[in-house]
Amino acid sequence: MQYLATPVTSWGGFLFAVTRRKRAKQEHRNQARGKRGIMMANLKYIQHVYEELHKYPEISLEEFWTAGFVAEELRKMGFSVQTKVGGEGVVGLLELAGPGQTFAFRSDMDALPVLEETGASYASQNEGVMHACGHDSHMAMLLGVCRYASQQNQNLKGTLMAIFQPAEEIGAGARAMLEGGLFAATKPHRLVGIHNWPSLPAGQLGLQEGPISAYADTFKAAFLGQGGHGALPHKTKDPIAMAAMAVHNAFALVQRSFNAAYPQTLSFGVIKGGTRANVIPSKVSVEGTVRTVRTEDQDKMIGLLHQAFETSSALYGGEYVLEYRKGVDAVVNSAAVVGELRSIFERRIPAIPVVTQGLASLIGEDLAYYLYEVPGVLLYVGSGQQGLVNELHHPSFLVPRQTLETGYRALTSIVDEYLG
Ligand SMILES: [Zn+2]
Ligand SMILES: [Zn+2]
Repeated sequence: MQYLATPVTSWGGFLFAVTRRKRAKQEHRNQARGKRGIMMANLKYIQHVYEELHKYPEISLEEFWTAGFVAEELRKMGFSVQTKVGGEGVVGLLELAGPGQTFAFRSDMDALPVLEETGASYASQNEGVMHACGHDSHMAMLLGVCRYASQQNQNLKGTLMAIFQPAEEIGAGARAMLEGGLFAATKPHRLVGIHNWPSLPAGQLGLQEGPISAYADTFKAAFLGQGGHGALPHKTKDPIAMAAMAVHNAFALVQRSFNAAYPQTLSFGVIKGGTRANVIPSKVSVEGTVRTVRTEDQDKMIGLLHQAFETSSALYGGEYVLEYRKGVDAVVNSAAVVGELRSIFERRIPAIPVVTQGLASLIGEDLAYYLYEVPGVLLYVGSGQQGLVNELHHPSFLVPRQTLETGYRALTSIVDEYLG
């Protein structure tokens, strides 16, 4: 707007004003083209990194090659890099030109013991292991935004912290990194974890305040009786009958015991016992998972399992043993950070739809442990594709190109705002 105010006092002045106007327009166009050019180059890099990481997946606690790859990329971009933080964790820090606060992103790194069926040209080279949860895409997006920050270093201030976490799938990596001193020297003032989300179409973002994932626990139980002949059940204490009744009783109790406003679920995934049709075994074991969003419901669920298992085994004269293992805590997105991010997205990437409700689920995710220390959120980047089975942990799962672009645009807008 400034050039319009230039007073035109002569032909020379008029021509000068026109030239300035042209130059300003050209500069603006160059800037836009420059930004677009940078984005196109970085998206190419992200796709390349995604495919490379997809080819060499590693399961939880064995992310050796992956951690090395990530650390090397960060070093090339000028980050100071710390490796072996809580196992194979990698932390990159980039000091930007001006002084300011520290902002952190977190990506997970581990893959799953799944036999890939995508048929992609960059399919897994490690047979029986696959990036079926898209952690390869999270690393690629985060490395993309790290590259952007290093390119824009002179226009940014503060510090960018890039956290690459191992062992997310087993709910162990976040705690291990924190215990390994992740925030000992530098504690960020905000933290955003990223996960692709197939329930949202590619091209959209998901950001909801409050509980977004669940307390994800597992349990094992054994029903102990007395085996015998299938034709003489009166001489046995039948653990198959105990287990069948225990499963049914547990479901019935759960259905009647919880406030329906707070979701929770109980599922049995394993039931094992017996060797042949006419032999009653002496032991049956079951395994299952429990998901809740409040600690009081978690405690109540443990009590209900004991109640169901005790009454069922006692009815047939037997006993039970229950081993309950608490898993990860529920992720609760900070209302303040959700508000800040929504405002950033509205202003900086208005064309990208942001879904703000209906995103909570009972999946397990260990981001909660960082959020006890730093206000932050779990940001979902849509990865659903119409007409395709694109579910997390599925052998056909791939992250669409559009997801990588949406993620890159969201994360760079966050960097521009918080570190700009
Ligand atoms: Zn997963
Ligand atoms: Zn995952």
